[in-house]
Amino acid sequence: AHEALRQSQKMDAVGQLTGGIAHDFNNMLTGIIGSLDLIQRNIATGRMDRVDRYIEAAMTSAQRAAALTSRLLAFGRRQSLDLTAIDVNALVEGLEELLRRTLGEQVEFETRLASDLWTASTDAHQLESALLNLCINARDAMPQGGKLIVETANFERDDGRDHGGLDAGDYVVLSVTDSGSGMSPSTLEKVFEPFFTTKPVGQGTGLGLSMIYGFAQQSGGHVQIDSELGRGTTVKLFVQRFHGERPVGSDRLSQTPLGAG
Ligand code: ADP
Repeated sequence: AHEALRQSQKMDAVGQLTGGIAHDFNNMLTGIIGSLDLIQRNIATGRMDRVDRYIEAAMTSAQRAAALTSRLLAFGRRQSLDLTAIDVNALVEGLEELLRRTLGEQVEFETRLASDLWTASTDAHQLESALLNLCINARDAMPQGGKLIVETANFERDDGRDHGGLDAGDYVVLSVTDSGSGMSPSTLEKVFEPFFTTKPVGQGTGLGLSMIYGFAQQSGGHVQIDSELGRGTTVKLFVQRFHGERPVGSDRLSQTPLGAG
């Protein structure tokens, strides 16, 4: 077993939007403007060989800026959850193509989907964005490439053993495992804090895991991270099983189809 096991911890809820975020955003815009400027000049002087590269750079910065604003919006809004009966395997399969493209050639991507997986009670949109976030984190931890496994499983918490804050009950577990850098103990302590990031300015917002944590808390789930420096990381997202009745916290009953339970 990995020693550096760290459970999610209680966090004081919402972090304030700080000047740091505006600063990050500004850096992204500066990157876009700089690239556009270079494109303009290169075109003006007929040097087309580097234009592709600058367009790529502008695109990357713009995508980061867009991702940042949508995360900030979601974070600020603290979207109300829409818990419905969800087939997590189907959700993973639906994202597979996008994930493969996002991860690129360097990352070997594998899914291990449990054939008898329970129906989950969760917010499909939030779960998708959590999965994407986890896979992007995994990719970022494997700059040299590596292996990423997305796995689903049933988990029954019915014994008296300590599962680090996981309430008794049935869960669907969605886990993302990478063979990347892993995290130091001091990083592990802070990963769920809003705005904590070890990534270069403009690349990390530090909101991914804190939002996933918030989502898990709100939906009666749980996040568990198992990471070892130099070996890799597994993030497990525990989602409540759907029991064929009104899911916990749901305020939109009508959208809940009958689950296989
Ligand atoms: P961001 O990805 O924007 O930095 P997150 O909240 O998603 O924000 O992650 C916070 C930090 O946790 C990252 O900057 C990184 O140091 C660490 N981290 C998250 N996922 C992984 C992973 N799979 N492997 C190694 N480190 C990770």
